[in-house]
Amino acid sequence: MEAEILSKVLAGIDEACIVYSPDFTIHSFNKRAEDMFRIPAAEIIGKSFSIDMAKVLGREAFGQVMYPSIAPSAARLSEPGADPAVMRIAFAEGEREFITTTFSFASGFVKLVREVTREELLARSKGDFITIAAHQLRTPATAANWALESLASDTSLPSAASGLARTGHAASQALLSIITRLLDAAQIEDGRFGVDPRPGDLSAFLGESLSHIMPYAKSLGVSLYFERQSAPVIALFDASRLGMAVQNIVDNAIKYSGPEGRVTVTLSSSDGFAEVSVADTGPGIPDEDMPQIFGKFFRGSDARRAVTEGSGLGLYLAKNIIEAHHGRIWAESAEGRGSVFHFTVPRA
Ligand code: ADP
Repeated sequence: MEAEILSKVLAGIDEACIVYSPDFTIHSFNKRAEDMFRIPAAEIIGKSFSIDMAKVLGREAFGQVMYPSIAPSAARLSEPGADPAVMRIAFAEGEREFITTTFSFASGFVKLVREVTREELLARSKGDFITIAAHQLRTPATAANWALESLASDTSLPSAASGLARTGHAASQALLSIITRLLDAAQIEDGRFGVDPRPGDLSAFLGESLSHIMPYAKSLGVSLYFERQSAPVIALFDASRLGMAVQNIVDNAIKYSGPEGRVTVTLSSSDGFAEVSVADTGPGIPDEDMPQIFGKFFRGSDARRAVTEGSGLGLYLAKNIIEAHHGRIWAESAEGRGSVFHFTVPRA
């Protein structure tokens, strides 16, 4: 009965499953394994699969999964000595990639193999491409921004030319900010985005950050309020990173509220954490968008219609920054009744 259940389950699962003894005699080779490695089970069950057999033409993929030391690239994903051992094995110039999970028993091993899909491989190379493109764009964009900034502040220019220079400067600043967000997102992906939290007064920090955002609120006709606490709120945060998170959240509240909107930032503190809330009088977030708003490149369809400009990276970055501080971030919203974004950071 148990053998019957097991063989049915193994035939149905989406991962290749190989059961073998310590001398590499193959005992079980499911349907998915046959398809993945293009080897009929009958051909290898009962045989001891030696390293020489692994090198036979047409069997390389299976050979390298069984003997990772002969694979062009093999990386351990689990801790050394952990059971199961998880490995990433790339085969033939990165064209195919496998994640293997090997459980060991006194009588042998069970290896589960998942093939990384073409879509996943493509998504990764797309990520690399974006990083390289953003890096290449940053230097000329910085130079153009600097030149336009100098021009825009040149009082000797005729007024038509000076208006053009100011428009150009605003556009180049928007461009630089998109490039910076793309680079930050790429750093998060490959785990290089660190934070260095230090004790500081969160109330003073928020006051300062919001004073930089005030001109943007004014330019869109939005009132921005800060209900600050009179006493300092000492918390642990990385001012430059947290500044980015605050800016992304408050910028959204302002841009989605639109003219005559009101954005209120509140700071409170409770057991061990300081909490910042940003409430707006904007259109709110549809229920179906809610689970996705912190995802990478997500832009709500209503939001896209109302505000054409946006990268879909602001909340993704904010979430990663807050979580790197061991804080929490969440949103509450009702369509037509505004949104409130909350985040916490630990108190010092
Ligand atoms: P972007 O603003 O560039 O589109 P974000 O990552 O900052 O990207 O936000 C993701 C999505 O979340 C937005 O496209 C919008 O649909 C929604 N959103 C974020 N903040 C608000 C807000 N204050 N009011 C309404 N919708 C919001």
